[in-house]
Amino acid sequence: MTSDGGAEDAAELAGEADSFGRLWTPHRLVYIKGENKPGHDQAGTECPFCFAPTRSDEAGLIIARGELVYSVLNLYPYNAGHLMTVPYRHVADYDRLTAQESAELADFTQRSMRALRTAMTPHGFNIGLNQGAVAGAGIAAHLHQHVVPRWGGDTNFMPVVGHTRVLPQLLADTRDVIAAAWAAEHAESARTAPTAED
Ligand SMILES: [Zn+2]
Repeated sequence: MTSDGGAEDAAELAGEADSFGRLWTPHRLVYIKGENKPGHDQAGTECPFCFAPTRSDEAGLIIARGELVYSVLNLYPYNAGHLMTVPYRHVADYDRLTAQESAELADFTQRSMRALRTAMTPHGFNIGLNQGAVAGAGIAAHLHQHVVPRWGGDTNFMPVVGHTRVLPQLLADTRDVIAAAWAAEHAESARTAPTAED
């Protein structure tokens, strides 16, 4: 636990009861077997956050696409419905985002919360960024903001979730439900939003 992570550390930690402590050490869970871990920090198909938007929504587990950012289901979630808001641009640090990227990142984070509330009725959320590998970023080279829905007592099953390969079909179903909630909420807010004439 003193190193900054690695497959062996992750496998050990996955069985521990203190799951809350692992919530912000994603590399320990995400790369238990080193899966999808890029071999370098460059943009391109080796970067999962550059690659995901090139796939279909279903194949990429994408919830919604904006102009500068997109929302995607985490392939290795801490909890059901664990989303990430990601800029299309291969950029590592929050303070390197443009004003436009920052604004849409915030907007998509709020939309993520609303869609998750509709789809899954969480009791709370963890929202945050891990900046740099030392801070727990699994893919430090490409910024991604976590939105993790929380329920009372969910830490009781999180070690099980973390230790078990999530079934692809379950993820596909989860994506469908959240994407539908997102679209419905988006349509509702567009319908009720004040117009220039108001
Ligand atoms: Zn990238």
